[in-house]
Formats: sequence, structure tokens, C-alpha cells
Amino acid sequence: MHGLMMEYPLTLDRIVEHAGRMFPHKAVRTKQPDGSMHEYTYADVLRRSRRLAAGLVALGVQSGDRVGTFAWNHYQHLEMYFGIPGAGAVCHTLNVRLFPSQLAYIVNHAEDRVVCIDASVLPLYERVAGEISCVQHHVLVNAPRDIETTLPNVLHYEDLIDGADDDFTWRSTDEQMAMGLCYTSGTTGDPKGALYSHRSMFLHTLGENQAMGLGLTETDVVLPVVPQFHAMAWGLPYACAMAGADVVMPGPHLQPAALAELIESQQVTVAAGVPSIWNGLYQELKTTPRDISCVRALVVGGSAMPRSLIDGYERELNVNVLQAWGMTELSPLGTVSKLQRHHLGLTEAEQLDVKALQGIPLAGVELRIVSDEGAELPWDGETMGELQARGPWVIRGYFKRDPTSEHFTTDGWFRTGDVATMTPDGYMRITDRTKDLVKSGGEWISTVALEGALMAHDGVLEAAVIAVPDEKWSERPLAVVVRTAESQVDTDELRRLLADKFAKFEIPDRFVFVDELPKTSVGKFDKKVLRARVAGRTL
Ligand code: ADP
Repeated sequence: MHGLMMEYPLTLDRIVEHAGRMFPHKAVRTKQPDGSMHEYTYADVLRRSRRLAAGLVALGVQSGDRVGTFAWNHYQHLEMYFGIPGAGAVCHTLNVRLFPSQLAYIVNHAEDRVVCIDASVLPLYERVAGEISCVQHHVLVNAPRDIETTLPNVLHYEDLIDGADDDFTWRSTDEQMAMGLCYTSGTTGDPKGALYSHRSMFLHTLGENQAMGLGLTETDVVLPVVPQFHAMAWGLPYACAMAGADVVMPGPHLQPAALAELIESQQVTVAAGVPSIWNGLYQELKTTPRDISCVRALVVGGSAMPRSLIDGYERELNVNVLQAWGMTELSPLGTVSKLQRHHLGLTEAEQLDVKALQGIPLAGVELRIVSDEGAELPWDGETMGELQARGPWVIRGYFKRDPTSEHFTTDGWFRTGDVATMTPDGYMRITDRTKDLVKSGGEWISTVALEGALMAHDGVLEAAVIAVPDEKWSERPLAVVVRTAESQVDTDELRRLLADKFAKFEIPDRFVFVDELPKTSVGKFDKKVLRARVAGRTL
């Protein structure tokens, strides 16, 4: 027997309508390219998102068309997050830091029909425009009237909004309609597209706002440092609108000093970004102290946050760190590490250990760890296995690719490509990505654990560990280390540091000191590049 409740489509227009009606005076503030602050309200977001949707439809955008965005985090991009899906189209966020060939590949693969481009990154787009044939209209954002461009069919974003009707009816009528498209940043392979539906993103938003998730409320002031062109800014634009939280958009100002100033001046309560951003901010605050104790949650994900850095934030800066794990393929939030009542009796150090875990799944996401043979493994905090996930905001196939056994199991789970352990109380720890693990003499070595231990040293700014081929052991770990300014730390000292915590076979044979680590377009250590440098003997 079926229940007798309404079929009510879970579409994203409901979220912006809710924000505009229930929280019409709550603020969205943007640090503009010239450094000034733009401020308006959710009532404005609602009005302008609807106009954007109307403008796109008037331009000829049809249901299911992909509309690209090539932009920093700002209020217009927030409007695109609502307006594009509200036009029945798919909001395809393009990463402004991609290599030109990858950018062209992704636009062509997605067959974007319109692309909205920030004036500040227009030259990056123009460079590849000749390789792109699908785009019919280029919409310039934050561009001066007299801007010169080589692109054809150009119009200004504000003209699109100004010329549109206020009484537009949303075209997002069916919750199964696609609303967003994000390509993985290609840390471990070719970019692949995750195509979200209204329903999946609506449920993800509810999931993110669970109390054991990020639990945003109307009292929060949220700073998404994570770019809107990366994994839907972790869903924060939708979660903020649903909660009625104020939003602070950093625009292109992502340097540590600018972020520190923004957090303090705007009294930010929740800020979200990858570990390299928070490492930069921490170093900045050590040299130029500011009071950022307004932050109730420093959300970190994308890579493992070293425990030492969590310690620094918690104990020195009085800032609560919330580690989260996710993937583009999970919309992206999967787990959050919050302390529970049974952790309260633990020592401070033990509580930090819990915060250094990736956390428990949100209700709605199921996780399991599995052996190479496909058997489910125990949750004992030690046994490592391939992490698999399922749930209403987990992908079931990549855009325009047949699902294969490389990514999906026959019993309906998504293979994350991560290797993890689970504690008996359900806290997941990422030990590695499958492709980054080191297999030495038949034993797995976790590069994430080694990196965390190395970065705990005061003289180490960043450390990445990679596998290098070895005749005897098949692979051995190699550590690539960036020292902090004036640090003299050397191989012997680092070996001694690791000897306390790791088995002998796990300790890297070689330590290489470099000035900088290569990073991917979303700020993760680029181990593909490091491995290529080792192969080419340039490391
Ligand atoms: P890409 O796959 O291109 O790196 P994503 O941003 O989707 O793009 O990356 C998801 C991956 O990032 C996860 O599979 C995991 O390996 C890693 N990751 C995300 N959050 C964390 C975290 N808190 N700790 C460790 N690794 C993480």
C-alpha cells in the first residue's frame, strides 16, 4: 500500500522562494574585484534569479540545455545557481583554474549553449574559444561597457536581467530534471561529469543542514571560500538560502590576508575551504594576529586536514574545526566529524583525534568498506578497505558515459576510489586514494597518515608522499617536503619524527626538499605531477 501524501516536487526554486519570503532582509555580501563590498538581500536574490531565468528563456535556452558559468564566488554566481536551474536548464560550473585544453574539453563535452563569464577571467576563456563550437551566447559578468573581446554574440549580464520579466513562472517542474553539472577536477584521471537533479540537490541541502551535518541556521554568517566552480561550493549556496543564513562571498580575494580581514570584519561564523587555504590562513594569523574567534565552525574538506593544524586552530585560535569528506560524485557532502556525547569524557587530545577523522555519514548516505574480493569488512577502526557509498545524492552514472564496474558495483553502490577504515561508532578515516596508496613488499602504506605526521613538525609547511617504483619491494614511499621560512629541518630529523609513530617499512626512503608543491586546480597536492617528475628524474 502506498502512502497518501502529496507528490510535491523537490525543486530548487522552492529554496530560493523560501529564502526570499522568509528571510527577505538577510544579507548576501560580496567583496567585489575592486575591493568594495556589494550588499543586498535574499529578496533581491529571489527577484534577480527569476529575472535571470526569464532572460535565459528569452535567449532561447530550453529545458535541459547546459549553461556554463566561468566565475568566482559572488552574488551574480549565486543568482546563476538558482536562475539557471529555474529556467529548466543545467548550471554547469567551469573551473577557472583548469588547463586550457581541459576547459575546452569540458565545455565541448557538456555542449554548453550559453556561458556566463567573469570579466576578470575573460582572457582565459578567449584563449580556448576557438576550440569550442557549441556556445551560442557569451554573457559577460562585472564587465565595463567598453570591454573589448574577441568572442562573438556577447551580452552583458545586467542587460539580460534588466530586459526580463518579474512574473516569470519557474520552468523547473519535475524534481528529476537535471539542475547542475560538475566535472571532477581530474586529480586521478580524466574529468568526468556528475549530473545532479533538483531532487538530489534538494535532499543534499536538507542533509547538509542536519544537526550532525553543518547544521546552518539563520544566525550564521557563512563564508564559502570553496569556489562555486568546485563541487557546487559544497552545496553551501543552497544550504544558506534554506537556513536563511547571511552569506559573504569573497570574489577573487582568496589570499590569506584578505580572508583574515573578511572573517574578522564580517564576523563570519562558518567558513569552508580546503586544507591548503586554512594552512595559509593559519600562517598569516601567526605573523599578523587577528581575532577570528567569531568562527563557530571552520569547515574543511577536499583533502585530509592535518591533525596538527586542527590542534593549532582549536587550541591557539579558539576555533572549532569541522572536518568533512565529500566528492563531486556525492553532491558533494558525505560525512562530517562532530563530537558526540560519548566523546565528552575523552581528553582534549583524544577529542582532536576524533576531529581528525573524516566523520560519520549524513543520514541519507550509506557507507561500507570492502575487500579486493568484494567482501564487506569490519568496522574496527583498523581494517582498510575500498570505500563505497550509496544514497539519494550519490551518482549512478557519469554524464555521457556508460556505468562501468570500475565505478559502480553490481549491487548498486558507487566505488569512491578512496581507501578507508571505519571505527565501531561509524567514524570514517580516509587512509588514501586507491591510486595514491603505496604497496611495499605486499603491505599497504598510507600516504595520508605520513603526510599528517610530517606536517605536524613546526619546520614543515607542506608534505606529500608518493609511491616510487622499487625493484625489491615493488613500491617505496618518497616524501616531498616544503620547509617553513627559516626552517633547517633535515632528513634525519624527519626520520626520527616518524620512527616514533610508524613501522620501519613505512618510513620513506627518500626525503626531497622543494620550495613549493604542485597543486591541482582545487588546491590539492598534485601527486600525478610529482610522480611524473620522479619518472622524468626532475625531482
Ligand atoms: P577530485 O576527484 O578531482 O579530486 P573531488 O573534489 O570530488 O575532486 O575530490 C574528492 C576526493 O577528495 C575524495 O575522494 C577524497 O579522496 C578527497 N577528500 C575529500 N574530503 C576529504 C577529507 N576530509 N579528507 C581526506 N580526503 C578527502
